[in-house]
Amino acid sequence: MVKILSGKEIAEVIKREVAEEVKKMSIPPCLHVIQVGNNEASAVYVANKIKSAREVGIISHHTHFSATITQAELLEKIRQLNVDDSVDGILVQLPLPSHINEDMILESIHPEKDVDGFNPVNAGKLFQGKQTIPPCTPAGVIEILKRSHIAIEGKKAVVIGRSNIVGKPMAMMLLQENATVTICHSRTENLERITAQADILIAAIGKAGFIREKHIKEGAVVIDVGINKVTDESLVRELFDQTELEKRLKAVKEKGFTLVGDVSPKSAKQKAGFFTPVPGGVGLLTVAMLMKNTLKASQLRRN
Ligand code: NDP
Repeated sequence: MVKILSGKEIAEVIKREVAEEVKKMSIPPCLHVIQVGNNEASAVYVANKIKSAREVGIISHHTHFSATITQAELLEKIRQLNVDDSVDGILVQLPLPSHINEDMILESIHPEKDVDGFNPVNAGKLFQGKQTIPPCTPAGVIEILKRSHIAIEGKKAVVIGRSNIVGKPMAMMLLQENATVTICHSRTENLERITAQADILIAAIGKAGFIREKHIKEGAVVIDVGINKVTDESLVRELFDQTELEKRLKAVKEKGFTLVGDVSPKSAKQKAGFFTPVPGGVGLLTVAMLMKNTLKASQLRRN
């Protein structure tokens, strides 16, 4: 029978640990969140980050620019925050409007204040196995595995997805933990032959319920990073068993969608040994890890 790995409990424990550390500091860490435009999802993510910061005692500031801000103006704001000694962490909520070069913005954040871990300096350190500020989502996955006492060393881990924010850093972190790592992507041939060998399968694809029984090894640890809005009732019926179906269909009727990961929960329940739910899994860890990263950034910079 599959064991559900609740992100909620682990995220709460991490936030409590951060709060304990923050209490010991004479000046609490300070996180500055920059939001651009009125993307609905971004507004929710920013609100969650600020709420979590408040809960753990981290000071947070929020600058909300209109979508018409120029790249030069945004770079100037980041430059000011980079030299502001009271600021420990800078986070620019993605996505940015299309006239702004996201890479350039992320590269402009000082690596010591890069609490998202997206700056190439931090990504390079991760690649080399050095002390760094890691990207929150894959770092959260490692926390889920470790705190659930799931062995990583020597295991076959397959990561599906090779983005700079999830797939690639995820693979590097698993390698650091001595897993034997394979990275798959949209051009991978015979995907299921590879994924069905994985002791630990991480799905970071962005396709609702894409991973089915044929992709999963019996008893595998399946970590679902995906967050997708599903509006189609027939897909909902395909992905959920009776225990959840009614609730999910109700959500589609009332809100117009239900949140689904990249793994079919029905398939995971039939085949996997461990499984992270969506919502309630990796997503909650991402915010908790942002708090941990902000604390780490302040400790590293001030010492
Ligand atoms: P990207 O779109 O940047 O990357 C998706 C990856 O999946 C790409 O590498 C792509 O391959 C691969 N892929 C696409 N289709 C297939 C396929 N048919 N077979 C195999 N691989 C495929 O997404 P992100 O990495 O940013 O995010 C992935 C998912 O995780 C999304 O659902 C996102 O919403 C979610 N997410 C969740 C977070 C959380 O807090 N839980 C945080 C960040 C993201 P290729 O490179 O060849 O195109």
